[in-house]
Amino acid sequence: MVEGAISVVSVLLNYYTEQKQEDPEAPVISKYALGKDYHYVLKDRLSKLLSYIQSELTPCEGRIFTDSAPLLEKALARNAGLGWIGKHTLLIHPKMGSFLFIGELVLDIELNYDDPFGNNLCGSCTRCMDSCPTGAIIAPAILDANRCISYLTIETKEAVPESLTGSLSNRLVGCDICQQVCPWNGKALQNKVLEFQPKSELLQMTAEEWKKIDKPGYKRLFKGSAVDRAGFNRIKKTLGHLFSSS
Ligand code: SF4
Ligand code: SF4
Repeated sequence: MVEGAISVVSVLLNYYTEQKQEDPEAPVISKYALGKDYHYVLKDRLSKLLSYIQSELTPCEGRIFTDSAPLLEKALARNAGLGWIGKHTLLIHPKMGSFLFIGELVLDIELNYDDPFGNNLCGSCTRCMDSCPTGAIIAPAILDANRCISYLTIETKEAVPESLTGSLSNRLVGCDICQQVCPWNGKALQNKVLEFQPKSELLQMTAEEWKKIDKPGYKRLFKGSAVDRAGFNRIKKTLGHLFSSS
């Protein structure tokens, strides 16, 4: 994917937020999707980092990635010493937890490399596996994507299997359950990224308003958000499952 690639610079950006949707009955939007689309936010920052390296440090060529190509981003981050891959399959940083976006600069120069993160600090904990409402974590660090609410509400074009429509735990976009129960997120800090601040209109939406949402309303609410990638029809279908099982 990158001519002459030699090194990877792996970076993390915290997206944890304390802010919550106000109506406890409202269909839940995952934390990562409450603000502006992270692809743009990370690409912008990585692009500045690449320009800085090129102009201030050393001539080089490189390319930016963030959840935008088939790179093994979590393994790269672990190999860069940033954390370990938890039983919920996400990267955990020992101080920041797992509410993190991962990005990379792939460069054509040699660097002074960090050591891989050698430990797995999950220990005997199985909270994420025990709490997953669909049983998607079938073994430590092995996820059956076809059962994962994140995949079912965002990625797949297929309908949610009937056997799982009653297990969506009121999740409309994504699902943070395995991260919320993880003890390593107990000290996660509020992110300071202006673009990740949620629209107050989104936080204030009631369950009744979600039931009636139309395409213009959806567009207004999610303009510039990662949720726009799921599309109105996907959102409507998921809302149908959530309200029919409540
Ligand atoms: S995101 Fe939700 S459904 Fe997917 S593995 Fe975690 S808890 Fe299970
Ligand atoms: S909940 Fe426990 S087992 Fe799961 S990722 Fe966190 S520390 Fe590891």
